[in-house]
Amino acid sequence: MEIARVRLCIDGQWIDSADGVVREIRSPFDNGLVAQAAEATADDVEQAIAAARRAFDSGPFPHWTLEQRCALVARVADLLERDAQLIAAAESADTAKRLLEAEYDIADVIAVFRHFAALGRALHERQVDVGRPEIDSRIVYEPVGVCGLIGPWNYPLLQLAWKVAPALVAGCTFIMKPSELTPSSAAHLMRILMEAGTPDGVANLLLGAGAVVGAPLTSDPRIDLVSFTGGLATGKRIMAAAAATVKKVALELGGKNPHIIFADADLDAAIDNAITAAFLHSGQVCSAGTRLLVERAVHDQVVDAIVERARRIHLGGPADPLTETGALISEAHLVKVQKYCLDGIAEGAVLRTGGQRSTAPGLERGWFFEPTVLDNCNTRMRCVQDESFGPILTVEVFDSEAEAVALGNDTIYGLSGGVWTRDEAKAQRVAGALRHGTIWVNDYGPYRPEAEWGGFKQSGIGRELGVDGLHEYLEAKHIWRNTTPARSGWFASEGTTA
Ligand code: NAP
Repeated sequence: MEIARVRLCIDGQWIDSADGVVREIRSPFDNGLVAQAAEATADDVEQAIAAARRAFDSGPFPHWTLEQRCALVARVADLLERDAQLIAAAESADTAKRLLEAEYDIADVIAVFRHFAALGRALHERQVDVGRPEIDSRIVYEPVGVCGLIGPWNYPLLQLAWKVAPALVAGCTFIMKPSELTPSSAAHLMRILMEAGTPDGVANLLLGAGAVVGAPLTSDPRIDLVSFTGGLATGKRIMAAAAATVKKVALELGGKNPHIIFADADLDAAIDNAITAAFLHSGQVCSAGTRLLVERAVHDQVVDAIVERARRIHLGGPADPLTETGALISEAHLVKVQKYCLDGIAEGAVLRTGGQRSTAPGLERGWFFEPTVLDNCNTRMRCVQDESFGPILTVEVFDSEAEAVALGNDTIYGLSGGVWTRDEAKAQRVAGALRHGTIWVNDYGPYRPEAEWGGFKQSGIGRELGVDGLHEYLEAKHIWRNTTPARSGWFASEGTTA
């Protein structure tokens, strides 16, 4: 396999890092070398911020019409579509997720660009009726400015797309910083942005470690907004760093998502969805349904079925057509997931299946963890409260609707949740009472670019996608124009006009 060389892109130029250092990107499947990525230095970060600032303050882009910017974003979608296979392959190589899953992800990326291109075309200034015919009062929307866009490794391009597409429609300039572990698909996006005609300096790509490359984007006074998707601990650091210059922050953080199954649910569908919710992408999904809350009367039936099917999930590499889910992203992450599981058992959880690294034939060199079910859990356990970001499903029982809601809300997070019942009124009550940003009823997992996504509580600040996801990148400005100028007459003293 050819080893991809991934470079930085600053002010329209592809460059190696200032000191020439390169990071090896290794497949989580077999630890094989898949790419070599330039590792940005502090000097590269400085150049990128300066370029994005220049492009915003004195470049042509902020003078483009909204129509031009939307056309650019639509062109990017077309080019992504043209190169979808190539990009999916690169992302699958970095993450070791199934090629098919990567293809779905890139299709979602394209849909996101199309959504924001269409949304931008429908963006209009707003007239305010102040009750005085001589006053023209308008709300106009202007770009926030220079943005630092920082993404995670689980859905590398999709999470950046949620930021890049609205930033472009809004007229912002930006610096993208994908995870150090998964740089390749962002480099493809950068190439396509340039091919689509994005002016130099508007889009810039930095690669490398969060501490060196990400952190300055969150503290530099020349950056106006940081949009971050990642873990809670990093999100708190970013919010603190941004406070010094009162930067706008948009945070998409973790989740510990309750998945509630009532006894009157369609259990066959509920069980099947509970398995997908917990084990898709080996649990490396912010909205993974990792907390199963099941009504006592059906606990044994539901949990036995999930355990039996979890044992049969086929772990494998990205090219294996039998693969149902893949490896964890890194050895460090595998160690974290294992510890999380052991802590749960030490706290009294009952291990029903999994609980260890998988070294089945063909998987020995990868970071595979067996789909795991921990039964007999309660909300005091760390395995119930902390995000494992691995294939671990914890099970709690409840006896009433009120208890299900109380358990579902007993978390610092508030990203998403699911509820299964045939009782429509109960479904509505529970969906209304859960303090999470997305609730699925008799389903789990779908999201749409047209619908806002984001977290209550410590799952984040702001919304991506939908309409709000564009407004994160816009400043609303009120312009008040008096068509019949007159003296204010506030003070008694008379003056004369020269
Ligand atoms: P992470 O460790 O917090 O890293 C996210 C990004 O931040 C990476 O690019 C990282 O750089 C960078 N970073 C690290 N320290 C930084 C700092 N001090 N300043 C600025 N940037 C810094 O998260 P992750 O492990 O990549 O992603 C998993 C997390 O993302 C999970 O908690 C998951 O729930 C969350 N997530 C949330 C959503 C959502 O929609 N709410 C979606 C996807 C994922 P490196 O390159 O060094 O890693």
